[in-house]
Amino acid sequence: VMKLPEHVKFIIEKLQEAGFEGYAVGGCVRDTLLQRVPQDWDITTSAYPEDVKEIFGRTIDTGIEHGTVTVMLDKKGYEVTTYRIDGEYEDARHPKEVTYTDNLLEDLKRRDFTINAMAYNEQRGLVDAFDGAGDLKRGIIRCVGEPKERFGEDALRMLRAVRFAAQLGFDIEEETAEAIQELAPMLKKVSAERIQVELVKLLTSVHPEEMHTVYATGIADVVLPEFSVMMRTPQNNPHHCYTVGEHTIEVLKGVEADKVLRLAALFHDVAKPDCRSTDEDGIDHFYEHPQVGAKKTKTILRRLKFDNATIDMVCRLVAIHDINPALTPESVRKAIQKAGLECYPVIFELKKADILAQSDYQRKEKLEALDGYHKIYDKIIKDADCLTLKDLALNGRDLIELGVKPGPQIGNILAKLLDVVIEEPEKNTKEYLTGYTLKNLFI
Ligand code: ATP
Ligand code: MG
Repeated sequence: VMKLPEHVKFIIEKLQEAGFEGYAVGGCVRDTLLQRVPQDWDITTSAYPEDVKEIFGRTIDTGIEHGTVTVMLDKKGYEVTTYRIDGEYEDARHPKEVTYTDNLLEDLKRRDFTINAMAYNEQRGLVDAFDGAGDLKRGIIRCVGEPKERFGEDALRMLRAVRFAAQLGFDIEEETAEAIQELAPMLKKVSAERIQVELVKLLTSVHPEEMHTVYATGIADVVLPEFSVMMRTPQNNPHHCYTVGEHTIEVLKGVEADKVLRLAALFHDVAKPDCRSTDEDGIDHFYEHPQVGAKKTKTILRRLKFDNATIDMVCRLVAIHDINPALTPESVRKAIQKAGLECYPVIFELKKADILAQSDYQRKEKLEALDGYHKIYDKIIKDADCLTLKDLALNGRDLIELGVKPGPQIGNILAKLLDVVIEEPEKNTKEYLTGYTLKNLFI
């Protein structure tokens, strides 16, 4: 027996009282059987969207053209979707046309994998027409029906297969895997938004090393060709024991499952294949080029339609992952200023993972230096040293009062004052900065 949350029970009961069927379905059934906490609870029903809206007091039309109405209970939303048979998917999030059905089995048949095609309510118990429970036990991702046909309807399912393998630590069933290998190029047709969602779920999962599969199946050639190039690039540098791609995957595994950090790990060496020199023995050497890397990362993330805040953070991390300031508070403050305060705490994790994934050449020294930076950083934060314009004891208005003309000069003077204070934090007082401005900067 499965325990349904009160809200879900309530929704199903209300639907049944009105003469319809209702079941918890998909991810929530799968996760509950795995004794994981589901992200959200989806409900499938024989009721039409208009019926659902009539039965429940507060609803939102979140996807009514696909049969989905969100029912609100105590500020929580539950997607209630009418049983449907999907037509062919278009280059969007949803099928081109949907046909409703009154048959639960038809609705389960349209779902992607056996483990995602189970329904449950307290009256009928588990409805599992494709042995999803068996595949959960065996740890297998298997298409419902004929894999090639299913991937032909919606190519995104191929990336979803790898995503679920990464999240659950499952294997992809053979016929399903063969179909992916063959049909991966079809992912070209899928929108960037849909790919982004699955890629992020894969990267932030417990097995980000499944990026191997993304490469090996040819999916990467279509959705992330830059990663394929990295995987194919050997790295002959004697101080690195991995190829660029393998190294990248090691770093990925070594950082926290945070979206920005995992994306930065994925792309931290993305420019290496472009930065190659061949020595007199004909051996290729690749070197880091963080600025080129950041630029390339930006292009990739834009193409995948990531939001600007994410792009900005990831690119800054890629750009600075290799900086090694001198082990002095002044240099570390300058580095923090350059990187941005919000980036700096996570850079340690990225750098540490990078060091650990390299050969053991000077590993101990590198880790010690990193530890040194960390200590200096902690003290800077504890002392609340001035690091940005807004911490400066003098602001634009003060400068105007001193007689500086409003305009670009204000910004220039403030930037110079910040440089002074980053060198010597004790100079961050109104008196000192006023005197300094009058003496040195205010012409
Ligand atoms: P998560 O825990 O990540 O939300 P989920 O299984 O709930 O996993 P969703 O993307 O939220 O995945 O989709 C909900 C359900 O809808 C799936 O379990 C599956 O039954 C069905 N589904 C989603 N996307 C597709 C698709 N592209 N093709 C077929 N069925 C799909
Ligand atoms: Mg879900």
